[in-house]
Amino acid sequence: MGVGTPLDLLEGVHRGVDLFDCILPTAMAQRGRAYTRVGRVDLRRGVYAEHETPLDAGCTCPVCRRYTRAYVRHLYAAREPLAWTLIGQHNLHFWLDLMARIRGALAAGTFLELYRNEREWLDASDLEHPPTPTRPKRASQRRGGPPPPARSKE
Ligand SMILES: [Zn+2]
Repeated sequence: MGVGTPLDLLEGVHRGVDLFDCILPTAMAQRGRAYTRVGRVDLRRGVYAEHETPLDAGCTCPVCRRYTRAYVRHLYAAREPLAWTLIGQHNLHFWLDLMARIRGALAAGTFLELYRNEREWLDASDLEHPPTPTRPKRASQRRGGPPPPARSKE
C-alpha cells in the first residue's frame, strides 16, 4: 500500500481508511531518522553526537528507556546494523502508539480534537534542532553533473 507517514495515517483515518501497510518505519530507520513528538529527528546530524537524551523523551518504548540519541547515532555512524534495529523498533512503537491513540479517540468520540491537535506537529522536522536550509549546489558540485559553463572574459 505504501501508506504511510504518521500524518498519512491520521489523514487516512479522518477520511475513513482503516487499514494501512508500509515499510516506512523501518525504511526511515535505515536512513537514521526517528519519528518523535518533536518531529522527525535525523540521527546522521552531528548535533546529536553528545545528546544524552532518549530518541523521544515522551516515548515508553524499550529503546527510549535504555539508549541515548548519542549512542544510537554512534551506532549509525559506525554502520552497525543494530542502529537500524533500535530506530526501527522505536519508529514502530511510535506508529502503534499513534494508532492506539486514534482508536481511543474514535471510541471516546474525540477524534476531531485529536486530529486538530496532532496534525500540526506530525509532519514536523525536528522542532528542537531545525535543520538549516542548504544552498542549492552548482552543477559542478553535483555528483555526476556536467561541468560548469565556460565564462566569457568580455
Ligand atoms: Zn521510543
